[in-house]
This record gives sequence, C-alpha cells and structure tokens, in this order.
Amino acid sequence: MTLARRPDYVNFCNCSACRPMGAGWGYFASGEVEIAGKTAEFGRTDIERCLTFHFCPACGSTVAWTPYGETAGDRMGVNMRLFPLDELTGIPAVWSDGLAMTDDSDTPTPRTGKGAMGDGKAF
Ligand SMILES: [Zn+2]
Repeated sequence: MTLARRPDYVNFCNCSACRPMGAGWGYFASGEVEIAGKTAEFGRTDIERCLTFHFCPACGSTVAWTPYGETAGDRMGVNMRLFPLDELTGIPAVWSDGLAMTDDSDTPTPRTGKGAMGDGKAF
C-alpha cells in the first residue's frame, strides 16, 4: 500500500466496528491511497451500512474502509497498523469513544486520550 502523505493523526476507536478490527485509522482522500493486490470486502448488516471494510483474504488483516452509499464522501480510513512503527513515529494518536455515538450526526466523536505513534501507548 502506498500513501501520498503521512496521516494528520491516527485514530484508535472503541466502536463496535473498529474495536474488533484492531485498526488504527489514518484518514485520506481516495486519490491519496494506492492499495496493491486484492482485498476482500465486508459490509455490516446489523446496522445501516455506511462503510465497506477491506481486508486481506490471505491473512485477514484489516486494510481500509471506504464510504458506502450514494451520499458517501471521498474520505477513507487506512489501517496504519499495517505500516512499520518507525515510519509512523511522532504522528499524533487519539483515542475515540465511538461507542458513545448514537447516530451519524455532525457531533464529533468524544476523545478519551491522545499521544503519539511510537510513544509506547500507540503502536
Ligand atoms: Zn469506530
């Protein structure tokens, strides 16, 4: 996978989608991300679908999510945990309480912590 730039920050979210995937998300426009190789897709059916998750069909690692639906924007999330930590050192890291979100309104997800990649808390 090739990224046009380092992410502004890496988000560790505890919501029912992010936590089981173990991802730390960096956010990009689709044109900033090039994914080499095939990925398999997954869309939740237990809630209104708004994302497609992409994972490696060989090892199962979460690769990225892309927006799903006609009103979806161009923002996508990339699992920054797939990159070597030394390439991420110093990037701000935040922890988000996605479980506290009750809908997809404009209310920002509450932050429960912050740090930096490579600081021993974010990896
Ligand atoms: Zn989440």
